Amino acid sequence: MRPEIGVVGLGYVGLVWATVLATRGFNVIGVDIDRDKVEAICKGHPPVHEYMLDELLKKAFETGRFEVTTSYEALRDAEVVFITVGTPSSHNGCADLSALRNAINSLARVWRGTRDYKLLVIRSTVPPGTTRKMAETLARSAGLELGRQLGVVYNPEFLREGRAVLDVLNPSRIVIGELDTQSGDTLLEVYTRLHQGILPPVIRTTIENAELAKYASNIFLAAKISLVNTLALLADKTPHTDIDVIANIIGLDPRIGKDYLRAGIGFGGSCLPKDLDALICYSKSRGLPEPAVSMLEGIRKVNAYMTRYVVHLAEELLEGLEGKRITVLGLAFKPGTNDIRNSKSIELIKLLVSKGAVVRAHDPLVKNVPNLKGNVIFTESLEDALDGSNAVIIATPWPEYSRIKPETYATLLAHPKLILDPWRIYKDFQDEFKKAGLKLRFLGVRL
Ligand code: NAD
Repeated sequence: MRPEIGVVGLGYVGLVWATVLATRGFNVIGVDIDRDKVEAICKGHPPVHEYMLDELLKKAFETGRFEVTTSYEALRDAEVVFITVGTPSSHNGCADLSALRNAINSLARVWRGTRDYKLLVIRSTVPPGTTRKMAETLARSAGLELGRQLGVVYNPEFLREGRAVLDVLNPSRIVIGELDTQSGDTLLEVYTRLHQGILPPVIRTTIENAELAKYASNIFLAAKISLVNTLALLADKTPHTDIDVIANIIGLDPRIGKDYLRAGIGFGGSCLPKDLDALICYSKSRGLPEPAVSMLEGIRKVNAYMTRYVVHLAEELLEGLEGKRITVLGLAFKPGTNDIRNSKSIELIKLLVSKGAVVRAHDPLVKNVPNLKGNVIFTESLEDALDGSNAVIIATPWPEYSRIKPETYATLLAHPKLILDPWRIYKDFQDEFKKAGLKLRFLGVRL
């Protein structure tokens, strides 16, 4: 198979992207340095849990247009290569670009001396200026003339985990941060073919605009969450208030919008926390004035505070945590995924354990968290998770937890049968919970 497209880094973004392209008629080679991951994918087992991905991967292999390997050699003839490797936080919060550098160096080795026009498309989230630097390195090491033989685009990915396939199939916008017109045109052709000519808004702009816009999107979402959480804390101190009513009133304002206005224990996951940290680091490096840096830092501080607040509520309502048996429901950073990177639930468990609580945890998809082993009991069944606990904390609002009946809690829990529900999944059933003798406490409701 002569590959048209290469995808480097087969995680949440890369695997979904490569699979979708292969099912839409492209010849695709996926490359990852993680041998186990590649083996699992080749056997049809995606290492990440994403709605529709299993079926789509099967379909992609059946087309005969999809290959997955650890060898960069397979990318020699690829015309367009997308880089989707991780850009995690380094020790000081700045984006760690080492995986990206390694990928560029490996690509340079196989593209050295090529005569065909090549397009490098970076999709990983990177600080402004990174793509241009990486492109210059690639051009220099591979002996390619930037612009003439090597085109470059920064093309951010905006997918949401848990709906990654749907988001890739129906993106809200396509951002093409291009080195020159030929680079942008080449990528636009890929998108036009992928979406059979029906495209969402396409924004063609500078590479740096695209890089900064990706951070800007995530920081805006993070700010919305921290703002609504601040208001929930305020509602907790104000009689006759309910954060959901307030959020609804705010959200109906078209200038604000209703999404990302659900108060809870804060944002986690592999994107918002690390992108916020990376933007703070980048802002400081560019000499952003202190008040503006503080604004970004405020988003982070409120987010970190939310887990401490929930633990403080538990401590108050249980009259101390030493020796108390607590069940934490949900380990994934949000429902619909098995991703536990920067999960607030794990932060919550660590805090509870540090205060002497005996914690049992349950999640529909995550069956254990290696670095919590020894301190926490992970249970397969909900009954085992709840049996004999003094309190339950809903850490991840999975839909299956909304369906737990008050009678189940009443039968299995021990005194004082506290249910701490920061996401308010039981708000419509308060009377039933009360009648069953359960103590229900929400975040941001003082009615
Ligand atoms: P991930 O950690 O799930 O996957 C990254 C993959 O890259 C891993 O499989 C790893 O083995 C591989 N890799 C690392 N170094 C490599 C190399 N030199 N060559 C080939 N493969 C290599 O990461 P992800 O969640 O898919 O995120 C990838 C990028 O996309 C990040 O920059 C992230 O910020 C951004 N992003 C993520 C999401 C999301 O929801 N996860 C959404 C939008 C953007």
